[in-house]
Amino acid sequence: MYNSVEDFMSYIENKNPGEKEFHQAVQEVADSLWGFLSDHPEYVHSRILERITEPERVLIFRVPWRNDRGEIEVNRGYRVEFNSAIGPYKGGLRFHPSVNLGILKFLGFEQVFKNSLTTLPMGGGKGGSDFDPKGKSNNEVMSFCQSFMTELSRHIGHNTDVPAGDIGVGGREIGFLFGQYKRIRNEFTGVLTGKSLNWGGSLIRPEATGYGCVYFADEMLKTKNDSLDGKTVVISGSGNVAQYAAEKVIELGGKVVSMSDSSGSVYDKDGIDEEKLEFIMHLKNVKRGRINEYSDKFGAEFMEGKRPWGIKCDVALPCATQNEINEVEARELVKNGCFVVAEGANMPSNAEAVNVFLSKKILFGPGKAANAGGVAVSGLEMSQNSMHLSWTRKEVDTRLKNIMKSIHSSCLEHSTNENYVKGANIAGFIKVADSMLDQGVV
Ligand code: NDP
Repeated sequence: MYNSVEDFMSYIENKNPGEKEFHQAVQEVADSLWGFLSDHPEYVHSRILERITEPERVLIFRVPWRNDRGEIEVNRGYRVEFNSAIGPYKGGLRFHPSVNLGILKFLGFEQVFKNSLTTLPMGGGKGGSDFDPKGKSNNEVMSFCQSFMTELSRHIGHNTDVPAGDIGVGGREIGFLFGQYKRIRNEFTGVLTGKSLNWGGSLIRPEATGYGCVYFADEMLKTKNDSLDGKTVVISGSGNVAQYAAEKVIELGGKVVSMSDSSGSVYDKDGIDEEKLEFIMHLKNVKRGRINEYSDKFGAEFMEGKRPWGIKCDVALPCATQNEINEVEARELVKNGCFVVAEGANMPSNAEAVNVFLSKKILFGPGKAANAGGVAVSGLEMSQNSMHLSWTRKEVDTRLKNIMKSIHSSCLEHSTNENYVKGANIAGFIKVADSMLDQGVV
């Protein structure tokens, strides 16, 4: 039992040394829950906070593969099976050189709360590798994916653990991973989500995280009788989440003036319209090029090595990676008039930046809530796979919209002063914690 959040955090830091992103994610949840827990001793007596911060299982494995020059390379693979109280482990795979255990534990931990918020029966997990797909040929990516899945296939299954994509893992990688799973296990099941339409994928899954984030921003704006129509929007990233967030903002009448990648940001004062967005999608999904090619093509400003948060906007949608908005950048955004931030990425605002947004009382939708649309449609993909049928685009989109609306109202229901961070953490916690109580000491 701990007397304060500080005491509890000392326990977490000692137990998980060096895992700074994981500490950051737990700290935010502990801050949100502390007052609530003092009114609910049943959770404290059953040590739910200590149990929920400890993954049920962590798998770490060697991934040897051969590159196009015939040389052997060795990467490290992970799967963090965090919590299965409300359903099979569910969460993406990330392939990026920065991947380590601390990052995957932060992502897996957040996934537990996020999945609970969707109202669908999914536990939380996350995995990936320090493999860098950038600059690799299709053949090299396939060799890596096949080796990765050769080990992972022992641990996952459609009723056990169902991975999806994340940074560096899109449709191409899911295809290679699925092919290898099927070959090894000789079964065609919904063991992965984000699959292609021809072999069990769901309509709207590629769009879901970006669309869902924009639906969430729109719900927040509705509380002020406002909408995205006519708003200037800055988006970071130019990958899966950023692309479809941009598409939906344009559809709802907003003007997207920036997108970025790890090399810098483009600033297009005239706005990135549908045609220019199509160029970005081709550049990123097919050519796998860098974002400065957009500036070369359309004559927009390229801010090398810079993030886009200095650009004047009404709405900011961080859709790249964790800790991409710091305190100074958050202040700059608010000073320039930004009054809505919806996180498409996981934990893109660091703790100080979140405090700026909360203290300035802008509309702030944390990733756990705002980007839950992706896993929600993954849940819908699992349902369609189990029933051996496919829903129409309209049907999936309507369900996604309703789920985002319901997450938005759960956040408001469990917080005061429109603090969506606290609301999301408490709402996500209750369902998982009650299920853990029901299932005994496991
Ligand atoms: P992608 O790999 O498709 O795109 C990632 C984008 O972010 C790229 O533009 C990439 O630039 C940029 N980026 C990645 N790492 C960094 C970095 N360290 N610094 C600067 N830019 C970076 O990934 P997704 O779009 O799928 O994921 C983006 C975010 O959304 C992640 O936080 C992910 O966890 C989160 N998310 C994704 C979901 C999904 O369904 N895909 C669901 C929920 C959350 P570059 O190409 O130069 O590396």
